[in-house]
Amino acid sequence: MLDVASMKRILFFLSCFLLLASGFSFAGAPAPINDVYVVHFVLDGMNRGVFDKLLDEGKLPAIKEHFVDHGAVFEDALSNFPSTSPTIYQSYVTGLLPGNSGIPHLERFDRKNKKTIGYLSTSGYLKINDDLINLKALENPDTVKLQPPTTIYELLGGHPTFALYSSFRRGASDFFPKRVPMHALWSAYVTENGLKIDYLAYEKLFGIFGEKDIPRYTLVGLYSVDFLEHEFGIKSVEAKNAVTQFDIFLREFLELLKKQGIADKTYLIVSADHGMHDTGKLFKLEKSLLNAGIFVKPGNPKIKDYTLYAADRGISSTHIYIKHDGGWEPVEDADILRSHPKKGGGTVDLIQTLLDLEPTMLVIARDGGRAARIFDAHGGQSRIECYNLNSIDWCSYHVTPNHGDPLHYYGRKNLAHLQDGEPHSTFEWKKATVNEEYPDAVIQLSQIFHDGRAGDLFVIPKSEWGFRKAKAATHGSIIFDDMRVPMLISGPTVPAGKFGVIRSCDIYPLLLKWFGINVPKNNYDGVDPFEKIEPESKEWQQLATLEQTAARGGKVRASGRMAALAREELNRRQILLKKLKAYEMELIRQPLKNDHVDIVRRAIELTEERVKRMQEITNRIL
Ligand SMILES: [Zn+2]
Repeated sequence: MLDVASMKRILFFLSCFLLLASGFSFAGAPAPINDVYVVHFVLDGMNRGVFDKLLDEGKLPAIKEHFVDHGAVFEDALSNFPSTSPTIYQSYVTGLLPGNSGIPHLERFDRKNKKTIGYLSTSGYLKINDDLINLKALENPDTVKLQPPTTIYELLGGHPTFALYSSFRRGASDFFPKRVPMHALWSAYVTENGLKIDYLAYEKLFGIFGEKDIPRYTLVGLYSVDFLEHEFGIKSVEAKNAVTQFDIFLREFLELLKKQGIADKTYLIVSADHGMHDTGKLFKLEKSLLNAGIFVKPGNPKIKDYTLYAADRGISSTHIYIKHDGGWEPVEDADILRSHPKKGGGTVDLIQTLLDLEPTMLVIARDGGRAARIFDAHGGQSRIECYNLNSIDWCSYHVTPNHGDPLHYYGRKNLAHLQDGEPHSTFEWKKATVNEEYPDAVIQLSQIFHDGRAGDLFVIPKSEWGFRKAKAATHGSIIFDDMRVPMLISGPTVPAGKFGVIRSCDIYPLLLKWFGINVPKNNYDGVDPFEKIEPESKEWQQLATLEQTAARGGKVRASGRMAALAREELNRRQILLKKLKAYEMELIRQPLKNDHVDIVRRAIELTEERVKRMQEITNRIL
């Protein structure tokens, strides 16, 4: 027989167990947040020109009244490169540029296990959530972790959150559909009802917001526009109908928020993840590479002696991984691509081979830790070099002498101050180049190589060409139409009016502010888009320039004024290096299935170089 004390003990443990099983622990009550709600609607692939025209013509009355007349409109809103859904949805929820998040494109090659991971495939659909890392947090001496709580879902843990038609949802308390969006795909591809995709989302939203436990944060992927533009073109009636359908839904949804009594504490965001441009011709990249004698990875997984993998998805950018020195490590020097082995012996210049293909517009090559080289078909050549100081990227842009400028920045009067070949801050580049033919390209085309997950080469075709499948319109490149998007925000503390530049990662700091959540500022790329962009700090700019000189093996002459700053930076890097090494040891003790330890090792190597360079500078001051 059990005595009363034992009974009590058993009941106590049982209740603990039940509490834990239902997601609550004694210590783990959800952290308090501000009493607000956020719903982010992503009009996937919405071309900004078409959107603005519909607004001007009075065809989006609810959007006009709610956002244009009473909310904030960002006139210079940016997507990321590559301009694909996974690389941008993650950005909204993490504040990270794709190259700091471990999610490089629609598909990636696992360099360690030599397997492809496709975020659009049934097997890889949810893999995006495991793939998410936070390189900013890893390189922040105060955190040094690869996967700390990063997504807004994780940070709102314990509160209801919802991901609707977004495969990116790590930490969301609820999501729909549970696995692959079969019903929506069926409507779109089989019954050819492109508007139905969004209709299903609206139905679900009305259900969820009609209930009691309304999610604090909801990300809504609306794929009708993307689907219909791909199918019929950016200016098609079909795609426009999907936008006007959204406007009708929005009016009803605003009514529902009022009815639920939360209209005045709800923030709404309407954006497009990426833009879209009309296209139509098919770029047969793999075939061209095979014709050049290159051993491209075939579909058959048993064949293993290939030397190149091309992530061939149906958009207008792709990335390529190459085998070199017996392995698949990220390329340290772009020149290695000039002599890639051919199948039967001999070598081929991979960069020139790509440039010689009729559809090719730009080739971007990894060129060491934080540098990239850019080539165009007309002999244009340039190099981007980046230095990270105090967690801010400083990048220089330099056109190779006697070559044209592939980005067409040189000679532009408004960019004169950025043509000195010296590093300038990420914010300066963002602001200055947002209206160029290739917006934000110096930052976007280099950041993508940061974490080592992306390939060693990116290929961007001329706008009329796309990969894998001929489509009426597509996206994925760095051109204006792909990179520029609508962005409208409303809510209790949102100032009304017109605003300038915003990157997709700049939404995240707003979420943190609205909910009242603290995350170390250096753990994400985004900045509050309502705050004025300050002119870049002269002192840090000088230190970045000194570091560039040191990196190039030039003679560093530092003035005494630099001393405090340089020592502060050196100290930061030394602490980081020590902590990274300890973190590597910690990881090694765990089973090594993923490539996390490789990312950490890469960070160690880069940090070692960074310490050395800053030591050189401080030595010259002492
Ligand atoms: Zn998309």
